[in-house]
Amino acid sequence: MAEVKSAPQTLTDADSLESSRRTFLTSVLGVPALAAMAYAASGPIGSLMAQTTQPASSQPAEKSLAQELKDDFAEECQVGYSYRVFAQQAMRDKRPGIARLFRTLAEAERVHADLLLLVREAVKDTAANLQASADYEHYLASEVLPKHSAQAEQTDHPSEASALRKLTGASEIHSNVLKQGLAALHAGKDMETQMSVCPVCGTLMLGAAPDSCPVCASRKVTFLTVE
Ligand SMILES: [Zn+2]
Repeated sequence: MAEVKSAPQTLTDADSLESSRRTFLTSVLGVPALAAMAYAASGPIGSLMAQTTQPASSQPAEKSLAQELKDDFAEECQVGYSYRVFAQQAMRDKRPGIARLFRTLAEAERVHADLLLLVREAVKDTAANLQASADYEHYLASEVLPKHSAQAEQTDHPSEASALRKLTGASEIHSNVLKQGLAALHAGKDMETQMSVCPVCGTLMLGAAPDSCPVCASRKVTFLTVE
């Protein structure tokens, strides 16, 4: 019988966080639109993502070039996001060079996604981008995610339903934060408050990082910040 070596298992905070996040991502990755949205979070979304989440046409031969480009954008986002998660797995497998390969490829896919937005001339001014993004997050929170959550509950998938409920709460908060950004813009100001993101459920919070996440109640985690 082959000897199986295993390191002593101690559940550190980092392990616990990674486990929570992994479970969460596994659930989320079953929803392609959300994976794409997560990857595209640094760029304008709103109506762009709403368009890319439409089901593929049943008559692909009749798709317009514009629709093809939207679909290509969605594909690039999803592939790039998957590469980021694959890099995390490579790190868990103690292969930092392969992890770097996946992270670098993810950057390449991001460049491709940017290029597809540019050729479509799909990026509007910041006010329009804020409004479209706020509307889309609200659409997710009020229509898409509750429906998926209910479906998960009805089909006896409690962990998926739980993840989707967290996403619903996060999306509504994101919509409100985007509206605050729009209000600041209309007032001739910028957003200067601190911001952080829950590493477990992805909720964005304004101001100093709280003791616990308002959506998933995670405590004692390092909330993520973006410069
Ligand atoms: Zn959270």
